Amino acid sequence: MNRRQMLRRTGAGLIVGTIAPGATAAPPQGAEPDKRPSLALSDYEPKSMLQVRETRVERSRYPVIDFHTHITVSAREVNGVALAAERNYLSDPGELIAVMDRKNIRTMVNLTGGFDAGLVETVRRYDKAHPGRFYTLTEPCYSRFLEPGYPQIQAEAIEQAHRDGARGLKILKTLGLYLRDNITSGKLVKIDDPRFDPMWDICGQLQMPVAIHISDPVAFFLPTDRFNERYEELSNHPDWSFHDHDFPSNAELIEARNRVFARHPKTHFVGLHVGNFAEDLENVSENLDRFPNLSVDIAARVGELGRQPRTARAFFEKYQDRILFGTDATPHVDDLPQQLFNDQLYEIYFRFLETSDEYFDYAPAKVPPQGRWRIYGIDLPDQILRKVYQENAARALKLSIAPSTPV
Ligand SMILES: [Zn+2]
Repeated sequence: MNRRQMLRRTGAGLIVGTIAPGATAAPPQGAEPDKRPSLALSDYEPKSMLQVRETRVERSRYPVIDFHTHITVSAREVNGVALAAERNYLSDPGELIAVMDRKNIRTMVNLTGGFDAGLVETVRRYDKAHPGRFYTLTEPCYSRFLEPGYPQIQAEAIEQAHRDGARGLKILKTLGLYLRDNITSGKLVKIDDPRFDPMWDICGQLQMPVAIHISDPVAFFLPTDRFNERYEELSNHPDWSFHDHDFPSNAELIEARNRVFARHPKTHFVGLHVGNFAEDLENVSENLDRFPNLSVDIAARVGELGRQPRTARAFFEKYQDRILFGTDATPHVDDLPQQLFNDQLYEIYFRFLETSDEYFDYAPAKVPPQGRWRIYGIDLPDQILRKVYQENAARALKLSIAPSTPV
């Protein structure tokens, strides 16, 4: 189904210009017919007339570790829960390395490496075949959630994954929003369910960072209506809405996550997507101050950071040792321009971080895919760029790297 059909199916074709319901019907008797043109929101593609500097940043100023990518994904999912070890391999290393070399990406971290045989095969195809260019994280095997002794089984699975080459643990929003008492049915399992405590602890003991995605943009928890700033995105992806049903609120999810951070101070957590609250950097700052074991990445949130450039710049200055570069890059996801792995995606991130350009697109798309706004660069100094591009991720992953030199 294409985007237009989806909009029609979901009734998402808002009309701008003429919103009055009488616009297409016959005017009331005696009234002048409304001659203003009408246009479906989905057809509206305004071109900015603003004349401002455009800087193309083809390569990052320093080598990059992209801490947040998805090169492999689970081959079988039911109601949002990955249930098989098998992986789908979205791209071969050669195709990835060509883009990486052009853009100055030294390393891609594949968060969704899966578990068991799928993890072993992923590490073999990428990490071992191209040392230093790829690192893989493991994921919980929720398919075993109902087995007696799951907490211990899961902790041991992490130890095995570590032996198999996994560099950390990835938690998808499955935890909190999809995983249920009977795995795919029943009540939602809480993020701070004690059955996961041994898993968090073993990650700390093995010095494996936990890349954790909890919750989603705040607008996903609100009705998909004319007040929703991500109206078109939610109309295109109705299954991304967590409004209603039995879903907890964004605040409840964040609080449960914070209890996990507090209970496991020796485990290093990387709160993905700016701690999943890029709309409220004050909240993210409070949590960074409260939890020394927390870092954040910026994946898929340049759209949020770049529309508040002064607040974002201050945030980068204050937390320059705890912000990791990430994009959410995924090969061949053509309907998700904000995370489609290609040259343009990286150039937008570099432009945001390195320049003071104004009012540019946060994704290579005709219509801004996450909300109708544009962004501003934050012109970070070299010392912060080096940390964000590479050094903070290297420290989190326990890599020894050569000092960053300009390339
Ligand atoms: Zn992701």
